[in-house]
Amino acid sequence: MSTRADRIRPAAEQAVLDAVPKQLYVAGEWRDGAGGATFAVEDPATGEQIARVADATPQDALDALGAAHDAWRGDWRSSAPRERSDILRRAYEAIVARSDELALLMTLEMGKPLAESKAEIAYGASFLRWYAEEAVRSDGRFATHEAGTGRLLTMKQPVGPCVFITPWNFPLAMGTRKIAPAVAAGCTMLVKPAKLTPLSMLMLAQILEEAGLPGGVLNVVTASSSGSVMEPVIRDPRTRKLSFTGSTEVGRTLIGQSAEQVLRVSMELGGNAPFLVFDDADVDDAVAGAIVAKMRNIGEACTAANRFHVASSIAGEFADKLAAKMGAMKLGPGTQEGVEVGPLIDCEQRDKVAELVEDAVAKGARVLCGGEALDGPGNFYKPTVLIDVPADARLLKEEIFGPVAPIRTFESEDEAIAAANDTEFGLVAYLYSADLKRALRVGERLETGMVGVNQGLVSNAGAPFGGVKQSGIGREGGPEGIAEYLETKYLALAID
Ligand code: NAP
Repeated sequence: MSTRADRIRPAAEQAVLDAVPKQLYVAGEWRDGAGGATFAVEDPATGEQIARVADATPQDALDALGAAHDAWRGDWRSSAPRERSDILRRAYEAIVARSDELALLMTLEMGKPLAESKAEIAYGASFLRWYAEEAVRSDGRFATHEAGTGRLLTMKQPVGPCVFITPWNFPLAMGTRKIAPAVAAGCTMLVKPAKLTPLSMLMLAQILEEAGLPGGVLNVVTASSSGSVMEPVIRDPRTRKLSFTGSTEVGRTLIGQSAEQVLRVSMELGGNAPFLVFDDADVDDAVAGAIVAKMRNIGEACTAANRFHVASSIAGEFADKLAAKMGAMKLGPGTQEGVEVGPLIDCEQRDKVAELVEDAVAKGARVLCGGEALDGPGNFYKPTVLIDVPADARLLKEEIFGPVAPIRTFESEDEAIAAANDTEFGLVAYLYSADLKRALRVGERLETGMVGVNQGLVSNAGAPFGGVKQSGIGREGGPEGIAEYLETKYLALAID
């Protein structure tokens, strides 16, 4: 593996980095933070600085909220649905047309291989297209009073100014999953991307501006100190909704802050996805699905399969085939041709993965492949398969967020379901079985918001993404996703 610490940045990379706006986007203007400060964005494959962006103060965030509030109280909430639809559609077309450039930018700030960045860009853009179509179809209903004496008119109205906080693992798609339905519904918003990956969001803001989104509808603040910058905004009475994607720990704090103004909240939080393989499953199919569910995004996904529960009669074959595939995956900087596994986001994340593996091994797990970090620059950890993982290993309870697959066995369907549900999380589960009746029976008993049946990927713009238990509140995607941005108002009409 080679790294790029000691080389001159290719012109194509520099051009992409130069094209990104580095300022705050407030009321349709690009401007510096009030304090004039900036913070660094680094390439996780090398640790080198790739950009500096404006570091917002709490007052900057309040200004951005004020802009969102003014735009909402102005024309935006009663704007024509077709106008909102056309803006989203134009932004979708622009992202598709520029996907190579955007993918390179995403890989430089986040580390994932270029092919995966492209996949995220296609996925992220699909929300703009889906909600461009939904923008003109969000209506209420009309009914007759049961006594025949009046009429009941129900309408949908935008919730109002929203605050969005997004994570670093999907720097574009976690934004469009919120922004697209909010724009379609007629809401305005303030977005704060993760400090590790602000560049993709800044590019998205520029693309939406060029697509005709009026100033103030979308405002973006980048900040190195998210807690102190966002808390005043969350407690401000002009905010009507908070949508957060990130860890359960931070989500819990934000739910507490939201209570003050009784905000509507959407929470897309952490996961601990079980991946069940029953004895009637096609093992090769299950291994292929496991690679997707485990290795997508270098394992840094809320939907990542965190633990594998495999019927004991096929567990050996499944483990050997998975280890052969994961052990052969090519590690390196995401910009390099043929690389399948990029660096983890930072050294803390790499050290946490190493610690979880060491804990499991100390308690008796056996390493089939990987099991260690790479020396040198970048935060690389080798794809790892563990068997004989004891029930008290920490990585069965905690989100690994790295390329590690711990395997346990089960003897019965009941045992598999009990193991899968033995967690405070409930985002997604995967199950492999050739028996459709079993798949439905087990799918219904899994305590998660989503279940992948004979597939390792559930994300889709037309489907309701979200979790139960401590994995969150609310859904993103599909008709459910725009409902989060609409209030229902009822008018009681007298007719005589
Ligand atoms: P995180 O530490 O919770 O951060 C998420 C976002 O919250 C970042 O923008 C962060 O800003 C901000 N933040 C942190 N503390 C804050 C505070 N006190 N007040 C306001 N904002 C604050 O999570 P992460 O490490 O970026 O992302 C990984 C987590 O996200 C994992 O648990 C993963 O499962 C979850 N996730 C869930 C979904 C889903 O759809 N359910 C999707 C993707 C990721 P800074 O960058 O400045 O710290």
